[in-house]
Amino acid sequence: MNDAFPPDAAGTAPPAPGGLATASSPASSGDAEAGHVTPSMAQFIEIKAANPDYILFYRMGDFYELFFDDAVKASRALGIVLTKRGKHLGQDIPMCGVPVSRADEYLQKLIALGFRVAVCEQLEDPAEARKRGAKAVVRRDVVRLVTPGTITEENLLDEGRANHLLAVARIRGSSEEDARFGLAWADISTGAFRLAETDRNRLAADLARIDPTEILVADRLYEDDDLKPVWRLQRAAVTPVSAALFDGATAADRLGAYFGVATVDGFGSFSRAETIAAAAIVAYVEKTQLGRRARLDVPAAEGSASVMLIDAATRANLELTRTLSGDRRGSLIAAIDRTVTGAGQRLLVERLSSPSTVVAEIERRLDSVAWLADDTLLAAELRAALQSAPDMVRPLGRLALERGSPRDLGAIAAGLAAVAAIATRLDAAALLPDEMAEARDALAQAPHDLAALLASALADELPLSKRDGGFVRAGYSAALDESRELSADSRRLIARLEAEYQAETGIRSLKIRHNNVLGFFVDTTAVHAEKLMAPPLSARFIHRQTLANAVRFTTVELSDLEARIASAGERALGLELEVFDLLAAKTVEEGEAIRRAAEALAVLDVSQGFAHLAGTDGYARPTVGDGLDFRIVGGRHPVVEQALRREGGDAFVANDCELGPTTRDGDGRLVILTGPNMGGKSTWLRQNALIAILAQAGGFVPAAEARIGVVDRLFSRVGAADDLARGRSTFMVEMVETAAILNQAGRRSLVILDEIGRGTATFDGLSIAWAAIEHLNAANRCRALFATHYHELTALAERLPRIVNATVRVREWKGDVVFLHEIVPGAADRSYGIQVARLAGLPASVIERARLVLRQLEEHDRKRPGLTLIDDLPLFSALKPKAAEPTPEPKPIARPAEPALPPGAAEALADLAALAPDDLSPREALEALYRLKSKLRKG
Ligand code: ATP
Repeated sequence: MNDAFPPDAAGTAPPAPGGLATASSPASSGDAEAGHVTPSMAQFIEIKAANPDYILFYRMGDFYELFFDDAVKASRALGIVLTKRGKHLGQDIPMCGVPVSRADEYLQKLIALGFRVAVCEQLEDPAEARKRGAKAVVRRDVVRLVTPGTITEENLLDEGRANHLLAVARIRGSSEEDARFGLAWADISTGAFRLAETDRNRLAADLARIDPTEILVADRLYEDDDLKPVWRLQRAAVTPVSAALFDGATAADRLGAYFGVATVDGFGSFSRAETIAAAAIVAYVEKTQLGRRARLDVPAAEGSASVMLIDAATRANLELTRTLSGDRRGSLIAAIDRTVTGAGQRLLVERLSSPSTVVAEIERRLDSVAWLADDTLLAAELRAALQSAPDMVRPLGRLALERGSPRDLGAIAAGLAAVAAIATRLDAAALLPDEMAEARDALAQAPHDLAALLASALADELPLSKRDGGFVRAGYSAALDESRELSADSRRLIARLEAEYQAETGIRSLKIRHNNVLGFFVDTTAVHAEKLMAPPLSARFIHRQTLANAVRFTTVELSDLEARIASAGERALGLELEVFDLLAAKTVEEGEAIRRAAEALAVLDVSQGFAHLAGTDGYARPTVGDGLDFRIVGGRHPVVEQALRREGGDAFVANDCELGPTTRDGDGRLVILTGPNMGGKSTWLRQNALIAILAQAGGFVPAAEARIGVVDRLFSRVGAADDLARGRSTFMVEMVETAAILNQAGRRSLVILDEIGRGTATFDGLSIAWAAIEHLNAANRCRALFATHYHELTALAERLPRIVNATVRVREWKGDVVFLHEIVPGAADRSYGIQVARLAGLPASVIERARLVLRQLEEHDRKRPGLTLIDDLPLFSALKPKAAEPTPEPKPIARPAEPALPPGAAEALADLAALAPDDLSPREALEALYRLKSKLRKG
């Protein structure tokens, strides 16, 4: 450490609660003015006050030191020792530190925990500061703000996940419903920059889809009561920022200024909300990168109609990119990801998170997969070539931010080599599908000159930091080679000079030695020294020092050589850094072409991944169209299938699903699925949703055949979870999710409902489920799968034409139930809940008692359908079951009583049945309607 921090002379006022009294607070500024604060303390206070929301990493020599509250927070978060150093206002100053060499590791932990960090560096050599006076403080300033959404370092980023910084701007409407939300999200590590507009209803779903790591909102929005629950639900760090970042009046100009254009009109047509959000992103990027310009693509607006909307609960329940417990393992992506590059993996996540609704786009993607699935040889070659292609976009981003390393240049060089190899291979292939042909063209336009330059300039082994030197290949720069030779050959040059001096003086014991005080010197014994001090040799050998038995000299040549040797290492490094800057500048210049080539590699990687999956796991090409079809033959659940295979037990049983309309212009169907617990109902429900997602992501699907009419929104209500943090019980969560579905699902939606109404009394639950199905059938008219234990609901299939029943087959064997996992048409005859409870190991006495209670309940229900009389239940009347009582046969399921019809209804119904709507003119139809109504009234 090079300057003392920060002993305070005589503070009297107590520090601000919990930590630092900032320079702006009256107590400390008063003290500073009164001279009670040391200069180094004043410097710290000033810098900290300018960055109050950040943990300040304060560079002191080889350490970043943290003080006051920052030290307390960080020591707790990082598990490092909290010490103290000096006093401020009479109190000990808490302190902890991290070595500069390991700073990234600690930064990573803090960022992952949602902290933001300001990195404050020394801007001059402490020796420079000392020249200004003994008490002068080394100049320091913050050089970078590190936040979760603005990191670029390889070791801070997840290779397979985009790192999105997202801004939300709101344009108020006449009501909450009318408000428009502009979303802008950028990944500064890759340059991706997108915009979308959404509304209050879809906001949470869009945020879940984009899955940002940091969300920027204006203070006012952050505090908005209506939006607080949305922010609270985010996994991302939500950063409230000044409303000035979201200033509508200057947004377009600020955006234009970032891209160096006079108007952003040429970028496409963005809504006002989108433009404001985009301007907030660039302002925040500028703020955190402190003057360095991150390379961002020109923003592209994404029509939200072009992606399948999947709300946050559905996304979580279906475990698309992570499981409910937050792991990648066990998620859909983990099961189907066969990509071999980080960029490919990121693109796959993006496609799965935002499945397309545009048939042509889906078909384009499927064509590539199909092509590679057919040409397995090319696919294998492509896969092998991609395996050797490192990520190029993130290294490019770092180079643009002047944060790149020789390894980043090396990555671009290796990436471009792979690009060239793949381009040549694809050139040889005939009739590529469109998407692959476009990829090939992008690869062909990659900067091959740059590739050659990098290959000739970079050494085989590259250091982590450019300051380590040694990354330029020998032979690339003559000046550099010479400098390197000089520094490497210093020993040889000294030996040569020594031999020359020995010959010239005739003193064989003369030596050239080195110490830290004199540097290089000629060393001889006192006996020989006289010869050197006398002419003619005294003209050459300059006396420096006389010791007891040695005399030391220097010479002009020796001083020269010493200076050259000392500076050779520095010069070599300087020359290397020049080469680095040149290579980095040339690489950044070609950024656009490199980015396009990298994107092309990612596209090829995703396609080969799906093709590979088709080969190893028997996935098939789906047919996606504009109709309302939903026909899956031999469908499987991607995750459960693999889990069963790994366990080596029973194979997964493939099942069909038909939700397509029964008539040409009709709506899709609603399947009511009944069946035993553990029968496979949830698995079937989810697998059909996952197949739709995979198909629209442009992938092959785990089915023998799949025909899917584009799904625009996917809803699911599966599983039960409390949301105690938000004060909602399990049943409340269930009802909130169900309400969202019933209010929003449309004709093109796919709805998956697993167990509605279970968290309440049987008849309440049954009634809610019943009414929900009727609503889905009549109002939402969507394709839906509804799993339930209320067998009574299967009666709806007889009344409503769109509704069909399905059940899971089981076989009973010696009183046990055997699950066949086969979905067949029809309704379950009973629940088997007690058998499953037995399998789960409930005590025999409980099972026996449950059987008795069930028998009595069924008996009661048969005699008095629709009524529940708790007094009739034998719950408290017999503590021991009557062992000898024979077990009666299972009773038929009671149907709820038909509601009584109003008078006149029978006649009206007969009339209605006789009507042929297609043969009626509108006027006749209206008259028929009046007639029917009057019949009812008369009756
Ligand atoms: P519950 O009503 O208790 O929620 P469920 O009917 O929804 O049960 P699932 O959770 O879907 O049952 O399935 C239970 C288990 O059965 C799964 O974990 C899986 O191991 C197995 N299983 C489900 N479907 C199949 C299938 N098609 N082939 C083979 N095994 C299956």
